[in-house]
Amino acid sequence: MNYLNARLKNLTAYQPGEQPSDGGYIKLNTNENPYTPSRYAVINMGVEDVENLRLYSDPECRKLCSAIAEFYGVEKRNVLTANGSDEVLAFCFAGFCDCGAVFPDVTYGFYRVFAGLFGVNYDIIGLAPDFTVRAEDYFNCGKTIFLANPNAQTGIYLPLAEIGKILKNNPNNVVVIDEAYIDFGGESAVSLIDKYKNLIVVQTFSKSRSLAGARVGFAVADEGLIRGLKQVKYSFNPYNVNSLSARIATFAVKDTQYFGECKAKIIKTRKRLINGLKELGFSCLPSTANFVLAEHVSISGEELYIKLKERGILVRHFNEERIKNFVRITVGTDADTNILLKTLEGILNEKV
Ligand code: PMP
Repeated sequence: MNYLNARLKNLTAYQPGEQPSDGGYIKLNTNENPYTPSRYAVINMGVEDVENLRLYSDPECRKLCSAIAEFYGVEKRNVLTANGSDEVLAFCFAGFCDCGAVFPDVTYGFYRVFAGLFGVNYDIIGLAPDFTVRAEDYFNCGKTIFLANPNAQTGIYLPLAEIGKILKNNPNNVVVIDEAYIDFGGESAVSLIDKYKNLIVVQTFSKSRSLAGARVGFAVADEGLIRGLKQVKYSFNPYNVNSLSARIATFAVKDTQYFGECKAKIIKTRKRLINGLKELGFSCLPSTANFVLAEHVSISGEELYIKLKERGILVRHFNEERIKNFVRITVGTDADTNILLKTLEGILNEKV
């Protein structure tokens, strides 16, 4: 550790959720999609795609950018792809934060880590007592704003009209809207990129498109901001998306039918999950994401996490002040949900 740069010595790195190598768990801890990637995408992958790994991938990721642009009704020049949306977020911190950054107290933990890594000063703005984002708290803040929408850990969605107000009241700084979970019921801010030249929308293939392991994320923004992101990318890793991932993602975007079916199933199961949890006495934050943040008066978040793990179910517990009594539960299949609810019932019965 003596050789490590001073800034890193004091940095608490991001702690990913558990990825057990032995399987055997019902995995509801990292907001992955319980359904396989598009079959159309899978069967279009061939031996020659693997053989083509001898070549560098396309640094401009032209086919994938075109497919994304077509899907959102924007131009290819408005899209940048990256190695997961985490990399897009890293580029935003590296490229647009001389003025500092600002984000909520309860949100995606990586914002704080990237700020530390890139030496960006940041302010934290508290969510309202009901865990919602108050748009006016972000007006004219003079720093680059990072908002996950729906918000990470809470699942709460901020209506597009509120995002519009934040953009309007920050004409001189960049606003990054991280839409990792937008497809599970929210309305994307992509429609605002023409109007607001300071908006970067960040999305991922990890959640709604079942490709977390492929590591593909992207930004949609005005051409000027995309050029800025490219300046960072070409100063760091021009071939940031590998060719196999770019190819499967390109097919996946085109399979709009399967995309729609998966989203609908998850939204339906989310409703069942929330109802089931409420019947067991849990309070749940209103989620528009593929996870639910839930707490119970008679058992702590940490104990619940441990007891579920002992019984083969992984959920996520965050040891953070405002949410430490909660667990975050990813929406799985209906079968996963049945087992989860039965197991929770058993755990709660033991407590009385
Ligand atoms: N943003 C948010 C809010 C997330 O929860 C995640 C997933 N951990 C990411 C971005 C990053 O996702 P990925 O790098 O897999 O695209």
